[in-house]
Amino acid sequence: MFKLFKKWRQQQIISRSTVSPASWDKAFQQLPLLDYLSEAERNQLRRLAILLLHEKSFIGAHDLDVSEAMQLLIALQACLPILHLGLDWYSGWTTIIIYPAGFAPKREVVDEFGLVHTVKNELIGEAWQRGPVILSWEDSETAGIVDGHNVVIHEFVHKLDMLNGAADGFPPQHKRAQAEAWPERFSTAYEDFQKNPKPGLSRYGATAPAEFLAVLSEVFFEKPEVLYDAYPKVYEALSLFFRQDPIKRARSSG
Ligand SMILES: [Zn+2]
Repeated sequence: MFKLFKKWRQQQIISRSTVSPASWDKAFQQLPLLDYLSEAERNQLRRLAILLLHEKSFIGAHDLDVSEAMQLLIALQACLPILHLGLDWYSGWTTIIIYPAGFAPKREVVDEFGLVHTVKNELIGEAWQRGPVILSWEDSETAGIVDGHNVVIHEFVHKLDMLNGAADGFPPQHKRAQAEAWPERFSTAYEDFQKNPKPGLSRYGATAPAEFLAVLSEVFFEKPEVLYDAYPKVYEALSLFFRQDPIKRARSSG
């Protein structure tokens, strides 16, 4: 009964959306990454984006005015990983903070001698456990260009990873067999990647298992053949996890 009510409620939210078809068209045009989606998938992505916009609030940092067009660009990219999973995969948090460009939070870190330092690193995105996703607009705006890098996908995949605890490169799995195969497939590839750089895979992925998953997911959606060439078993694991096969999709759309 609850499921039926939820579906009805979601349908209400979607039918009441005030975003015009022209605004959606413009957003899709700015995201070449989505060109390979079928008509049905584009519709599903649009529905998820409406629900995401309803559920999450956007906050502009440094007086940034986050316009509807900006929200659509971010929401469509954010919903690509959950296209066949559903919006529940982004539950447990509410805020998306947008900085005009890269941001430099001051953090205190403790070094190996126990001394506390304040560091300031330029970031283009961040995802906090049970907290906000933070994005640089400058980098999110151009993320949908198909170059193998996508900060929006990167940060939202961290959110999927955090659903079952701290980000560790091991998100919840749909089936036991997948859960059992995942650590071996990923750790073998991760260890290899420490020693052997691969063309098209950012070295940032070698900094931690969580970053490996996020970086590989960017490539999975933007340059799937590159990931398949480097780590076919990881491609397969991601394909089962996201319930999407971007290589097949690209081929069938000709
Ligand atoms: Zn990251």
